[in-house]
Amino acid sequence: MKRLRIGIIDIVSRGPTRALYARIMNASLASIMPQVIGVWCQEQGHEVTFVCYTGFEDLLTELPDNVDLVFIGAFTEAAHTAYALSNLFRARGAITAIGGPHARCYPEDAARYFDYVLGFTDKDVLCDVLRDCSQHRPAGVCLAASRQPGTLPGVRERWQFIDQTLRKAPLLKMVPMLGSMGCPYTCAFCIDAAVPYQPMDFEVLREDLRFLRTRFKRPLVAWHDPNFGVRFNDYLDMIEDAVPPGSIDFVAESSLSLLSEAHLKRLKRNSFKGVLPGIESWFALGDKSKTGALVGMAKVRQVSEHVNLILSYIPYIQTNFVLGLDTDEGPDPFELTKRFLDMTPGAFPAYSLLSAFGRAAPLNLDYQRSGRVLPFPFHFLNNNGAMNVRPANYSWRRLYDLVLDLTRYSFSTRAIFRRLLATEGVTSRWMNVVRAVSTEGFGRARYHREIRTRLDSDPQFRPYFEQESGALPQFYKNIVRQDLGPLMEWLPEDALYHDPNAYMKAERSKDVVALV
Ligand code: SF4
Repeated sequence: MKRLRIGIIDIVSRGPTRALYARIMNASLASIMPQVIGVWCQEQGHEVTFVCYTGFEDLLTELPDNVDLVFIGAFTEAAHTAYALSNLFRARGAITAIGGPHARCYPEDAARYFDYVLGFTDKDVLCDVLRDCSQHRPAGVCLAASRQPGTLPGVRERWQFIDQTLRKAPLLKMVPMLGSMGCPYTCAFCIDAAVPYQPMDFEVLREDLRFLRTRFKRPLVAWHDPNFGVRFNDYLDMIEDAVPPGSIDFVAESSLSLLSEAHLKRLKRNSFKGVLPGIESWFALGDKSKTGALVGMAKVRQVSEHVNLILSYIPYIQTNFVLGLDTDEGPDPFELTKRFLDMTPGAFPAYSLLSAFGRAAPLNLDYQRSGRVLPFPFHFLNNNGAMNVRPANYSWRRLYDLVLDLTRYSFSTRAIFRRLLATEGVTSRWMNVVRAVSTEGFGRARYHREIRTRLDSDPQFRPYFEQESGALPQFYKNIVRQDLGPLMEWLPEDALYHDPNAYMKAERSKDVVALV
């Protein structure tokens, strides 16, 4: 096989940024799979140039212009950046491939702009691409393994890419590790619910933890598991066997149901510094928060008590909520979240507007069948830039009034100050303040206020939101133009528009084939 010059771009930021939080955090948010692809390509004898795009690089000059094949990893919010890059590299004669969440959620759309669209990617799928490495246009080919790979290159093998990325992080340097894939829980909206739970090789994990201690005085590991600690004792046994307790700091996403007091004691002993459980709703999803059938204020009390208990063991906690769920109605869900914040001042609240990411979850078929999915451009599908599911129980104006009110409440001077007092440790305190005053708190409140104002004053808004018109308001076009900067000239003209019902149509055409 010819030795290929391969470029790999892990897009963390959907465009150039100067935000303080992005400066501190983005390099620590790098994905694992682009690094894995880099290792596998090198194993096959190819030459790899790797870039993690954090929003501070000049993407037009970072990669050599004579690459044969470019792999791009992107979340949906970065799809337009990815499409523009693909167009640019194709114009220079390269073959392009996309992987990551956007490719899994919107393969039909991605195939319009890439030669290869990769779903679950294992070494065989990658080798197929490397062998074929040819143009597939106008429609790219979609390739996927039947399941996630059983093993992945560990930190030691990925180190060259991790190291070059973390050099961009001025303060916090989080090393991404993966202990497991999939999740045994069945939250209907989650992309990981349909992926069978699978632990990664403990020997590799043990080796990686030991290796990291040779690279940092005190490493910080971010577990990228969708739900860390499903086999809690096995993982903690492995960590304790690998390194002395307290020699590595950890953060992890874990559901409340896994964070019992006995588990918290062990996590504290092993220096877990941050957890990110999902609460999602006061009226649904009781299993993952261990609140069973409790709803409303009773659930708030129990979850608040639990989160305060967690805070007595682990200094940093982000609690995740979804706003606008079909199970929510009236002001109560929002008022209850405010009560939760009053009773749990140390928790950092992260809000997501209800969103349906293409094929991410079968639940999205229901939204598409009932005609509730709006075609907001991908650039806004980051859980906050737009809500692409028409709310079941709110008008748009009412919903944005409530979202804005809750955001202001959560990031008021009083709330920031109370959070500061209720948080232990310099890093946790400082993180909470930076997040509140940067894009996530103040920035989001500003943005939601703008949307709410335009729902009254911008004549293009209401028809688009009410699905009476498919004409995208100029406001959104301007943001894409501004965010993409010089890449905008490479964005294909039709890329701002996608079929929001592509998943449903693909499922229907399967039925037709079956009948025939
Ligand atoms: S517990 Fe978390 S990771 Fe698991 S299915 Fe629910 S949302 Fe997804």
